[in-house]
Amino acid sequence: MKYYSTNGKVEPVSFKEAIFKGLPDDNGLFMPEMIPTLPPSFFEEISTLSLPEIGFEVIKPFVNGEIPDSELKELIEDVLSFDIPLVKVKNGVYSLELFHGPTLAFKDVGARFLARSLSYFTRKEEKKLTVLVATSGDTGSAVANGFYNVPNIDVIILYPTGKVSAFQEQQMTTLGGNITALEVDGTFDDCQKLVKEAFLDEELKAELNLTSANSINMARLLPQSVYYFYAWAQLSQEDKKKVVFSIPSGNYGNLSAGLIAQKMGLPIHHFLACSNANDTVPLYLWNGRFQPKPSVATISNAMDVGNPSNFVRMLDIFDGSHLEMSNTISGYAYTDESTRNTIQKVYALTGYILDPHGAVGYMGLIDHLASNEGTGIVLETAHPVKFNQTVEQEIGMRVALPSHVESTNLEKKSVSFSTDFADFKSFLLDE
Ligand SMILES: *Cc1c(COP(=O)(O)O)cnc(C)c1O
Repeated sequence: MKYYSTNGKVEPVSFKEAIFKGLPDDNGLFMPEMIPTLPPSFFEEISTLSLPEIGFEVIKPFVNGEIPDSELKELIEDVLSFDIPLVKVKNGVYSLELFHGPTLAFKDVGARFLARSLSYFTRKEEKKLTVLVATSGDTGSAVANGFYNVPNIDVIILYPTGKVSAFQEQQMTTLGGNITALEVDGTFDDCQKLVKEAFLDEELKAELNLTSANSINMARLLPQSVYYFYAWAQLSQEDKKKVVFSIPSGNYGNLSAGLIAQKMGLPIHHFLACSNANDTVPLYLWNGRFQPKPSVATISNAMDVGNPSNFVRMLDIFDGSHLEMSNTISGYAYTDESTRNTIQKVYALTGYILDPHGAVGYMGLIDHLASNEGTGIVLETAHPVKFNQTVEQEIGMRVALPSHVESTNLEKKSVSFSTDFADFKSFLLDE
């Protein structure tokens, strides 16, 4: 299995090269040359398999023996060591709780797989690796946690100052060690731009061994396909008809991973791409025009992305056809006000506590199911406690921190930066 660039101007590379490079040199994104279909026997026995067992079968073809099976199995058991339960909210509507990992958001899955895969390959080589990551909040926390104390790897996290929650900032800035947090005076898009520029800079490429941990990295994306299969495995026979996945989206990594799962043979009937005011992709699905714009701040801040990177992967999967894409995916976009109302109403009616991101997905699901048949599954991408200020206002009670997450009183350590690439570059060269 090789990985090609969506821009098609470079030779396909191995799994190892794809995850170390992060981005191909022609500024496209890597995609697997072939998306294999899993055998019928896998789907017949899927309900009897554990999450790591499903994970191994789904990920194995993409790693193509570059990590031997026995080690890959162990690695995946370590990555998927927390549950991803499918919880019934009401008849025909389920929440896939992706937030039971150490930083309480789905990004733990991809970040842990990337960290452990890179570490598998660097273990033998005495080469130091620098991981750059731009974050609107959750990526930074998950990457910091997933890479903390991983030998031979330094991590540099860029986040927009004042635009991440206190909890997220604490998770990114208090670990220290091999984790450095840069507080950028700008937006998430500015952070992402700095990272992209660094990867295209000849001098940096020559001096440093750089890789990315954003959702553009294949090793972040692939394991995210796993939980679509696991959700399916948890559905009753009766509910396995016309399964609709609703995905609260920002950079569209989760949605792209769902499309890969569908291509592997998982019978997903339809996808919903749900956004906040950053509605670039829903607009494209409605009118066929992809017009990136500056991001705007919302209460579902992990989805504040105006120019979603994984859109090119979505296009690639549908061979550039708007018609094909809009037959498979419907777009929905919501205001903060309706997000707040939904958190309040769903709690009042069902007792289920949504976080602002899940609430965006939930609205899309309810709106879609109002005029379409099917079993609905919303990806609940973060624990409500991560956004407790918003959530507690709506439900009128405190949300408790799960017991496996320690609250730390460690000191915040971050370095302040402008959006000027020259400053960032000299910082990297001085490291
Ligand atoms: C990152 C994130 C999203 C967006 O996921 P993408 O894969 O970038 O679309 C949604 N919700 C939460 C809580 C997130 O952290």
